[in-house]
Amino acid sequence: MTFPATDTVVTYPDGDLASTGTVLHVEPLEEGRSAVVLDRTAFHPVDPVWPDQPADAGTLAVDGRDYAIVDAVVGATDGSALYVGNAPVRTGTEGWAFVVCHLVDDASGIEPGATATVTVDGELRRALSAGHTACHLASLALNDAFAPLWTKDVPVDGRGRPNFDQLAITSSRILPEGSLDEYRIGKSLRKKGFAAAELAGRIEEATEAIDATLAGWVAAAAPIAIVRDGDGHGLGERRRWRAELPEGVVEIPCGGTHLRSLAELASVTVALELSEADGALGLTMRTTAQPA
Ligand SMILES: [Zn+2]
Repeated sequence: MTFPATDTVVTYPDGDLASTGTVLHVEPLEEGRSAVVLDRTAFHPVDPVWPDQPADAGTLAVDGRDYAIVDAVVGATDGSALYVGNAPVRTGTEGWAFVVCHLVDDASGIEPGATATVTVDGELRRALSAGHTACHLASLALNDAFAPLWTKDVPVDGRGRPNFDQLAITSSRILPEGSLDEYRIGKSLRKKGFAAAELAGRIEEATEAIDATLAGWVAAAAPIAIVRDGDGHGLGERRRWRAELPEGVVEIPCGGTHLRSLAELASVTVALELSEADGALGLTMRTTAQPA
């Protein structure tokens, strides 16, 4: 059995909702499922290493037959085996090919060499792109609102604010037209100079500040783009989200999909909630993006 030697060419970062490619490999999985690997695809897969944006929904058509894509995950191969969603290395590691694994319940009739057309559910994609764009914006606005709570120098975000989001985040989930981010404020964050004790008294004020910042960015109809580091379009190559905010361009490394402009949104708002668990503070940020 041969495995793909190069990354899947991915066109979802450009906003594509359909693609035509060639079947390179069909890997049998448990319970009769199979992973279908193509040379190129418009289908966004979930990355199990940081599963923020879920997989697209859609279909694969081969020889006039439609196959529902029940899930899609990042796969990796070193030439000896294909790891479907459980790669032992990080996406982008040298010497490995990173591929989109389109999971189907029954792959009978799909053979390597066949032409396969991918069609993505545009409504779900649009809602997830809105959620992902809003998530990045909210993280920047959160860093801004929490900036006065830092008493020491820490790494900063693309706007020069202490990067609370990066330092404290434990999980991020992109939802249709929203996101759910979880932060942990424990001993190490306090040691870095974060005034955790002041947080409870300032949550309301911070929420208002974040919403006001977000309203300003939405009103400015800021353009959004995905920028590639290199010339390649391989799954494992690094990409960045770029927003042309009124006060300057901001970039965040990102493998997901996004809107083209904040003109596509009517509003972005957040709700913050504090909790306590084993000596640490937990903060949940729920972000909601209202389409225009
Ligand atoms: Zn992202």
